[in-house]
Amino acid sequence: MPCKNCQEKPVIKLTNVNISLCKQHFLRYFEKKVKKTIRTFNLLEKGDKIGIALSGGKDSFTVLSILKQFQDKKIITLEALAIDEGIKNYRDLSNAKKFCKDNNIILHILKYEDFFNNTLDKMVKKFKDKTPCSFCGVFRRYLLNYGSKKFKFDKLATGHNLDDESQSILMNQFRNNPEVSARLGPITGVMLDKKFVRRIKPLYFVTEKETTTYSFLKKFPVEYSECPYASFGYRNSVRDMLNDFESKYPGTKHSIIDSFVKILPSLKSQFKESKALSSCKLCGEPTSKEICQACEYVKELKK
Ligand code: SF4
Ligand SMILES: [Zn+2]
Ligand SMILES: [Zn+2]
Repeated sequence: MPCKNCQEKPVIKLTNVNISLCKQHFLRYFEKKVKKTIRTFNLLEKGDKIGIALSGGKDSFTVLSILKQFQDKKIITLEALAIDEGIKNYRDLSNAKKFCKDNNIILHILKYEDFFNNTLDKMVKKFKDKTPCSFCGVFRRYLLNYGSKKFKFDKLATGHNLDDESQSILMNQFRNNPEVSARLGPITGVMLDKKFVRRIKPLYFVTEKETTTYSFLKKFPVEYSECPYASFGYRNSVRDMLNDFESKYPGTKHSIIDSFVKILPSLKSQFKESKALSSCKLCGEPTSKEICQACEYVKELKK
């Protein structure tokens, strides 16, 4: 099927709407869609200082590159924040450093070793009874929020796309976790709280396939290697199931997202008051308990 707009050779078929697009028209379609998400959900306000959670993967380079257009128009300022977990032969931020240097973007790097006295490689040896992603995720979220406040970001932009979000929605549904779903959406958080820097997801309505194609056509210097500790649990089963459904019933993932966005305002208002955040007694970061989970893990690491 040739490009719907110009009959040129296509680079992608959008199965949910059954059309194909050539390189030029796909790039235009993709950026238009991301900018519409930004506009519709007020993800950016004039004068915002936005941090980009930069991992060196296709999603974060895509977000950085599109938000840079807003910086070039002097609507926002932009800085990047990368987390170095300390994973030998995997976490290599040299491409991210070069990309930021070439694009004149300040890059901050926070390391697990500096904050938690251990690299992830060391933690994995100490926490034999836990899956690496469970504690790594806690430390990563901790440093992203800590860094966002330290560097005075108004919001932190992440690379979550439509596939990631539709998986999260289903996982919360299957596990009866509506309270966790209330924190999802194109802009996260159920309340405006100074302790927690809100996350924005400009890629909310574009799929994994579209983002991969965009990143490939733009020749971003993406790291393709896989984390050696990635756990292939629940999320993977949901992803496989969703991909299978999508191939049999095109448009399934979009339907999940579109219906979720319709119920999100009532979900957010229902769970608004349920858990006010307090400050961790040890580090001051936001938590719903006395001591935050990151500090609990650090205590365990010292034993
Ligand atoms: S895959 Fe898991 S262990 Fe590896 S960096 Fe991501 S969260 Fe951490
Ligand atoms: Zn075309
Ligand atoms: Zn703490």
